[in-house]
Amino acid sequence: MTTMHASNLNRQAEYRKLPAVDALLRTPELALLAAEAGVEVVAEAARAALAEARHMIAEGGSAPSPGAWVHLVQRHVERLGAPSLRPVINATGVIIHTNLGRAPLSAAALEAVRSVSLGYSTLEYDLEAGARGSRHEHARRLLCELTGAEDAMVVNNNAAALYLILSALCTGREVLISRSQLVEIGGGFRIPDVLRQSGARLVEVGATNRTHLRDFVLAVTAESAAVLRVHSSNFRQIGFVTMPTLKELIDFAHSRGLVLIDDLGSGALLDTTQYGLAPEPMVQRSVAEGADLVAFSGDKLLGGPQAGVIVGRAKLIEQLRRHPLARALRVDKMTLAALEATLISYRRGRAVEELPVWRMIAAPPEALHARAESWRTQLLKQGVVAGLQHGASAVGGGSLPGETLPTTLLTIEPPDPDAAAACLRSQSTPVICRIQDDRLLFDPRTVLPEQEETLLTTLREVFKVG
Ligand SMILES: *Cc1c(COP(=O)(O)O)cnc(C)c1O
Repeated sequence: MTTMHASNLNRQAEYRKLPAVDALLRTPELALLAAEAGVEVVAEAARAALAEARHMIAEGGSAPSPGAWVHLVQRHVERLGAPSLRPVINATGVIIHTNLGRAPLSAAALEAVRSVSLGYSTLEYDLEAGARGSRHEHARRLLCELTGAEDAMVVNNNAAALYLILSALCTGREVLISRSQLVEIGGGFRIPDVLRQSGARLVEVGATNRTHLRDFVLAVTAESAAVLRVHSSNFRQIGFVTMPTLKELIDFAHSRGLVLIDDLGSGALLDTTQYGLAPEPMVQRSVAEGADLVAFSGDKLLGGPQAGVIVGRAKLIEQLRRHPLARALRVDKMTLAALEATLISYRRGRAVEELPVWRMIAAPPEALHARAESWRTQLLKQGVVAGLQHGASAVGGGSLPGETLPTTLLTIEPPDPDAAAACLRSQSTPVICRIQDDRLLFDPRTVLPEQEETLLTTLREVFKVG
């Protein structure tokens, strides 16, 4: 008899051990669970557990023992009752991963959200006056202090910030923008589209690779309202390329009575070059050079909640605040609480220690190696064969394209990497990793220390042999 034949027979024997859904539902524990969670839910969970078992057998495993079923079905009941927005373990090494929720919040930000959301808050209440206040007051002083701007406001995200700025200041008028900056940010969001949507007229200036100051000079008319500079966050042009400096654009705009709007995308309050990365434009610098309005995201390099931050001239920000769209784009108390707590970390000079995004950027290669090595040792002890290899993490979030940070990756080589990755994604805390050359790669940089134990338990359950 060939081994192939034998394994087929084995498999069939294992399949025959699988119980019927009805039989599962009749076990006392699951009958009890059905009374609690509903028969339909438990039946669906039982079918899911059976499908999983069939998959395991197809992969060469054996059928679950009769005693294991209650636990297996329970796990699926939990999953069916769980919200669709769930925590995952990001082992990809991409720090600001847009699909995985961008910046993880700091402990302080989380606590702030909790404390203002559990009950009532001063969201729109002035304690001194004992009367109605404005939600725009929150984070305002901190933002001004940290960026040097006269005034600041917060909206739902940076796309909303741009939309509000253009709608309030440029509707029916021209906005000058270099052809090299007509970018698509991601998810189909394009600068020319948001411009059109706001009712502003786009005036393209220069060529794709080269734009000179004289191109702006020639393009300006009596209808012009603003010059928009958009940071080419997620791509890089090299070679025969030129663009006026921010200072030149600002001087030009002001000489013609135009507003200079600077969309920084990510925007950083800390200098990325300290960590061996290329310089990412800093908000303070744009403000200091004289940009009238500077817009950036709350959940990219700032390391806070989803938000769009606008800082700049008081007169212009006041116009934005009064615009009807400001109401439609306003943020919730949870966002403001998290943003203020995040900004307070910067003010205390503790951003690198307290904000996960910066902690991950600043993680020393030796520390990452030590973590990967310790994972490998623990897994080996538990019968999981894993290796280590040098690798690269990325900042992500449309910042610093092509820039990487050196790291050490834990590697696992399962017979079917795609199936293994799918299995990791199906766990109660899903693990998202990279696959390269038939290996699964796990980067310690983006795995939060408090998730480490869950990660190792999951890897042991999914990969242990025998
Ligand atoms: C990311 C980005 C945006 C959009 O910011 P969101 O906060 O995601 O809305 C706008 N402009 C640039 C240049 C960006 O990189």
